[in-house]
Amino acid sequence: MSGNGKMRVRFAPSPTGDPHVGNIRTAIFDWLLARQRGGDFIIRIEDTDQARAVDGAVEGMLDALRWIGLDWDEGPDVGGPHTPYRQSERLPIYADVAARLTRGGFAYECYCSEERLAALRDGGAKADGSSGYDRRCRNLSDYERRALAPSGAIPVVRFKMPLDGVTTINDMIRGEVRFENRLVDDFIMLKSDGFPTYHLAHMVDDHRMGITHVLRGEEWLPSAPRHLRLYDAVGWQPPKFAHLPIILAPDRSKLSKRNGAASLMDYRRMGYLPQTMFNFLSILGWSLDDKTELFTREELTRHFSIERVSKAGALLSADKLEWMNGHYIRAMSDGELADALLDFWGAYPPPEIASLPERELALQIAPLVRERLKTLSDAAPLTAFLFTDDIAYETAELVQRGMDAAGTARVLDAARDGLDALPAFQAEPMEALLRGMVKDLDVKAGQIFGALRVATTAQRVAPPLFPSMEALGKARTLRRIDAALDRLRASGQPD
Ligand code: GLU
Repeated sequence: MSGNGKMRVRFAPSPTGDPHVGNIRTAIFDWLLARQRGGDFIIRIEDTDQARAVDGAVEGMLDALRWIGLDWDEGPDVGGPHTPYRQSERLPIYADVAARLTRGGFAYECYCSEERLAALRDGGAKADGSSGYDRRCRNLSDYERRALAPSGAIPVVRFKMPLDGVTTINDMIRGEVRFENRLVDDFIMLKSDGFPTYHLAHMVDDHRMGITHVLRGEEWLPSAPRHLRLYDAVGWQPPKFAHLPIILAPDRSKLSKRNGAASLMDYRRMGYLPQTMFNFLSILGWSLDDKTELFTREELTRHFSIERVSKAGALLSADKLEWMNGHYIRAMSDGELADALLDFWGAYPPPEIASLPERELALQIAPLVRERLKTLSDAAPLTAFLFTDDIAYETAELVQRGMDAAGTARVLDAARDGLDALPAFQAEPMEALLRGMVKDLDVKAGQIFGALRVATTAQRVAPPLFPSMEALGKARTLRRIDAALDRLRASGQPD
């Protein structure tokens, strides 16, 4: 805990691309913990790797976090007592610490050329089992240093790892993990472009920003001994660490576009709801009781605990995700679903829709499609007939099994007149009317409905007929039946 005992948790993304679901899950766990304990949730941008920085990635990440419903107390956009929250704007702070460590004999300048380092890397592990830099510049005399120091260029600064002994990290999920110091190389803290590496920058910031708990991906576990030695050398108290299990594809391979999607925004584009993604990612690697899967945000905030995060990699099941999305779609009111559809169509205009519909139409669409959607992207194809009058079908499709063109025309004609005469153009009276006509017309209900469905929607797969015609409105429905009648009558005539 920080000085005043308040929990402070940070999410520290590197703006190197799309927001990966693994990172988003870390952010969710951070947020749950902070909110549960009345702590602070801080966003810090780790943009010290200039070569990997991608334009727009910071905004993309913040948008993703907002979309999924997270809020933060401090960050690059909202400010806070530790401004700036972008590492690229804090360079002097890291340079200071690096200089202090060099002066204290904990770090040293390294003049080795790229070629030499590449040759070392290609050489692989050394006889003692260690790999990486061979510490050549660690023990140079002042004289040798002067001779080697390239004039004008900034030398990299490396940290002196102890050459023997063990560093033990007490991970909140994994318990004690021991590392032999001699197997950890003298890593770079400050690069020749003057930027710090992650190792130095994150620990300086975590300390200065009063971070009490660090949740991060398990890929950082092997680096943890470096960080503990750094804390030790500067004389700071390290925060508590939790290394979260990796998220894998069902075949245990790395998550990628090929086996699903890795970016949260890909899931948004596919039509998954933010509440689905929040719930789904929360149970990837964390469980309450090994059976409960649906949780509200409040329940998650109440029940979440680091102790119940698993050590093993979490498999992302696309089937479960789809099922969960269906659950959340069906739990929405008409208004909520209409808004979700408008939001989705606004962000990713579907080919079926020429322009964003009025909310009123979206409100009519919501109950039509709710039971049939797995994702929001299913809605536009199902309701394409509402967005254009240019509907395409073969005349033969109007003719129902056991009927001919003339018979179909007779039925559609009667239905049209009946619908025209209805005092209210609503699903229930429509259904009553049309079912009432079955006997007089001597047809099956399915035959009337089938012909009407093709005439009004041109779709074999469409939402329920009567609410669809209601959503279409009287004028458009009758016009489409008239057009179908024209086609049927023309089809009887010789060319
Ligand atoms: N910038 C690091 C990353 O994106 C953060 C790791 C951490 O949370 O310390 O992986």
